[in-house]
Amino acid sequence: MKCSKDGEFTRGELSPYGNIQLSPSAGVLNYGQAIYEGTKAYRKEDGKLVLFRPDHNAIRMKTGAERMLMPAPSVDQFVDAVKQTAFANKRWVPPAGKGSLYIRPLLMGSGPILGLGPAPEYTFIVYASPVGNYFKEGIAALNLYVEEEYVRAAPGGAGGVKSITNYAPVLKALSRAKSRGFSDVLYLDSAKKKYLEEASSCNVFVVKGRTISTPSTNGTILEGITRKSVMEIASDQGYQVVEKAVHVDEVMDADEVFCTGTAVGVAPVGTITYQDKRAEYKTGDESVCQSLRSVLVGIQTGLIEDNKGWVTGVN
Ligand code: PMP
Repeated sequence: MKCSKDGEFTRGELSPYGNIQLSPSAGVLNYGQAIYEGTKAYRKEDGKLVLFRPDHNAIRMKTGAERMLMPAPSVDQFVDAVKQTAFANKRWVPPAGKGSLYIRPLLMGSGPILGLGPAPEYTFIVYASPVGNYFKEGIAALNLYVEEEYVRAAPGGAGGVKSITNYAPVLKALSRAKSRGFSDVLYLDSAKKKYLEEASSCNVFVVKGRTISTPSTNGTILEGITRKSVMEIASDQGYQVVEKAVHVDEVMDADEVFCTGTAVGVAPVGTITYQDKRAEYKTGDESVCQSLRSVLVGIQTGLIEDNKGWVTGVN
């Protein structure tokens, strides 16, 4: 789908996966004017395909587009494009429980612009790729490293939206952590470097007794759709769910820590390393993380009845 700066998006068309043409002076290539979403189509036990809360991705894209001075497709246009892409690729969606079809809606300033300014034309593309389960051989706990040199986002920046400009700056910290044997990095706030933000592409939760805390989204943390859903599931299970500033000392003293996101689902954290300290957390079948994970996966794969209206049929 295409549109000019202030215009409506025209109806798009399905085409085989391939390269696209862009001017060297396209806004996206020079000024990073682009935002994206990530969602998945799941195959249920009965073979039917479902999407998980795609309207929330559409709303998040609209919010992101406003921040980056871009027009956005309407919620209906967005959801329809995602559904059409999933349906066209239905033969690639793995059997229930064996993976999913990852769907990437991408909105970019595709028109040429030489001086710093918003692009004169925008393109909205949805593409898809089958993916296996995040954990290939059973659930393995993540080992995280608290990053103190680099921050992911600062107040007033674009950390709260899914701008492409948020991701290249984390590659250095992520690759350094991976080369030291960690699965991912935990970022701290930019001002005091004492409060937890999130990991490179997932939100984080801390469990102490019956209380589950997660950093408030104050514009520097992406408001994950999995985060929001897991908070609701946790409240249903009787936990006290709190959004607040979570101090790193509280994290080191927690019973459990887990991460949430479209890619990881709900993933247990086994250890966190902060300065010269290393904390170990409870994981496994009896964990809070596992009880939340099983409900989320159950709803996504149709094993648990979706009485929340979170899944939308594709075919
Ligand atoms: N934080 C960041 C920085 C992310 O890229 C993602 C992945 N979209 C998330 C959190 C998790 O968001 P969601 O649950 O919507 O996938």
